[in-house]
Amino acid sequence: MLIDSHCHLDFPDLSERIAPILALMKDNEVACAVCIGVTLEDLDRVLALAERWPAILASVGVHPEATGGREPSVGDLVELARHPRVIAIGETGLDYYWHKDAPEWQRERFRTHIRAAREAQKPLVIHTREAATDTLRLMQEEGAAAAGGVMHCFTESWQVAEQALEQGFYISMSGIVTFKKAEIVRDVAQRVPLDRLLVETDSPYLSPVPHRGKTNQPGYVKHVAEEVARLRGLTYQDLVDATTENFFRLFPEARSKLSQ
Ligand SMILES: [Zn+2]
Repeated sequence: MLIDSHCHLDFPDLSERIAPILALMKDNEVACAVCIGVTLEDLDRVLALAERWPAILASVGVHPEATGGREPSVGDLVELARHPRVIAIGETGLDYYWHKDAPEWQRERFRTHIRAAREAQKPLVIHTREAATDTLRLMQEEGAAAAGGVMHCFTESWQVAEQALEQGFYISMSGIVTFKKAEIVRDVAQRVPLDRLLVETDSPYLSPVPHRGKTNQPGYVKHVAEEVARLRGLTYQDLVDATTENFFRLFPEARSKLSQ
């Protein structure tokens, strides 16, 4: 059984066709999809999906790129994380791609999430883009290692991966690993210790080959796992078993929540 550790099933492209999405998950032996919150305003829809469907779990957070919505406090996030279907805090992190001025509000928001994760004792789901140095520094300063977590949809260099691994974090591979120009990502996919690797879709974005350009969905995590297995010279089943075991080690609450 395989797990999609990161997706956005509440986004309109996907939320309108949950039944066929769950059917493809079943066909591809994907036992769970973690639906990741990106704003407080959309969180009700994320939680509703996780309440309704046994294979969907949830994460609460405000994405570093989200603007114009309500800013969460540590207390808000800790309270929301008590929901019985929530297993993680995020997604959070830093993204300087659209914000070249490297804004202080993003860093404050990230610190808030790390503090909440420590208090709620839930792992972090971290997004980082063009901000690796600050991301690692804030993780260190706020003691993110105490909460643990995953660097999702990893696109940074091996040097950055190594530093995240040193802080106890897991590295998650998305469909980007199947893209032609993604040599850096494939290098990381080969070098991350097998017991620290996760797979995800980040759907509806980043459909892996052979579905590239179409709307992504959790069932397609199979193609991510196939490519990572191929790169590492492992059988598909060995890669599936390892990443699923890793998922349950990082998110120990998930096992009982999935069987409820
Ligand atoms: Zn995401």
